[in-house]
Amino acid sequence: MPPTDAHRPQVVIVGAGAAGLSAGGALMRLGIEPTILDKDDRIGGSWARRYERLRLHTIRRFSGLAHHPIPRSYPRYVPKDQFADYLEQYAEALQLRVELSRPVRRVRAGEDGLWETVSEQEERWLAPVVIIASGNYNEPVVPRWPGLDDYAGRVVHSRDYASGRDFAGADVLVVGIGNSGAEIAADLVEQGASRVAIAVRTNPPIMPRDLFGVVPVQLLGLALTPVPAATLIDRAGAVTRRVAIGDLSRYGLGKAEWGPFTARRPPVIDVGFLKELKRGGIEVRPAPARFTTDGVVFADGREESFAAVIAATGYETGLRRLLEVPDAVRPDGRPRFRSGRPTPHAGLYFIGFDETTRGVLFEARRDSLRLARDVRRYLETRSTPT
Ligand SMILES: Cc1cc2nc3c(=O)[nH]c(=O)nc-3n(C[C@H](O)[C@H](O)[C@H](O)COP(=O)(O)OP(=O)(O)OC[C@H]3O[C@@H](n4cnc5c(N)ncnc54)[C@H](O)[C@@H]3O)c2cc1C
Repeated sequence: MPPTDAHRPQVVIVGAGAAGLSAGGALMRLGIEPTILDKDDRIGGSWARRYERLRLHTIRRFSGLAHHPIPRSYPRYVPKDQFADYLEQYAEALQLRVELSRPVRRVRAGEDGLWETVSEQEERWLAPVVIIASGNYNEPVVPRWPGLDDYAGRVVHSRDYASGRDFAGADVLVVGIGNSGAEIAADLVEQGASRVAIAVRTNPPIMPRDLFGVVPVQLLGLALTPVPAATLIDRAGAVTRRVAIGDLSRYGLGKAEWGPFTARRPPVIDVGFLKELKRGGIEVRPAPARFTTDGVVFADGREESFAAVIAATGYETGLRRLLEVPDAVRPDGRPRFRSGRPTPHAGLYFIGFDETTRGVLFEARRDSLRLARDVRRYLETRSTPT
């Protein structure tokens, strides 16, 4: 099909999630109107579809986007549906041009130093600036375990998990102990699953959401992240965790095998998992080695049957397919360049991809302000005759 006439905005943003919207809001405040494209049919869809029990783990005050904070009337930990609504309100309040149901198929360098963005429908945009905000949690990954095709039970990725109600009375295995895996295991117990087990490959650091019931863990992240002593802070963190949550080895969870500050990623934030674990409601297992027709054989050889498996096994970004830009994407699918900063490819930016111990939403707001200033400078240099 011949290329259609191209739309020619100054800036195209791929993704109208929190990061893309914040970049859009920050640009609007500098007098630059971006076109924001999203494959979804609503703003905030990725949050609206997440599991019912979910609330932000970061506090309201530090989870809002540029120039329009989350209303004070919202609770400290905002429920996911309210956050999805906030994203819709944000787009309206900042008068953002969001074009929905626009799945972008390709982004590459086009003519005259412009970036070409093409949708699945072959619609084209040519712009001096393109901002990739398609998210770290874009495409669910379910490992190809041996025997999985013959397994008769249900396999559901954590992205598609809604509520433990759907598994009441069933024996369920959760694979993966990230934030989603831990919370989903708790939800399954609360909603009446008959047996819940969680498969753990690497023991994570687990922190209560509110340390000693008082201090939001995000505040520690905000205070300590800039301190150039990650190893020391992680050691102090291990001691603090031991005091706050006790020794988990008798429940099958060993010492944490990584530290949040050295790894620059958030710990597992406990919002009910530990209570169910300590009450014997959640059993810990090693990683699955293979599947049978009615269950799983674990790495230690133990075989158990499960009616369902929740794969809390992470996501792919999809950037390798989306971006036709040499060396822009690392082998793990993440961008090679920091979010919110200019890249060696003039006019190409990323936002929302950096790992952080302060909260992705917190970083997205900060990076969007920095990015907008740099985009304005870049557009000015492009328009100034040499
Ligand atoms: C379960 C869960 C809980 C989290 N809780 C918190 C928290 O409490 N606090 C916090 O700070 N962070 C949290 N995060 C991390 C992060 O803040 C969120 O994932 C947040 O949604 C990231 O915003 P984003 O805009 O980068 O990505 P997303 O919200 O994923 O938005 C990306 C957008 O890009 C669109 N898109 C993707 N590919 C294309 C394409 N090819 N064409 C067009 N559109 C495309 C998608 O439809 C989507 O709307 C959580 C993440 C998860 C998974």
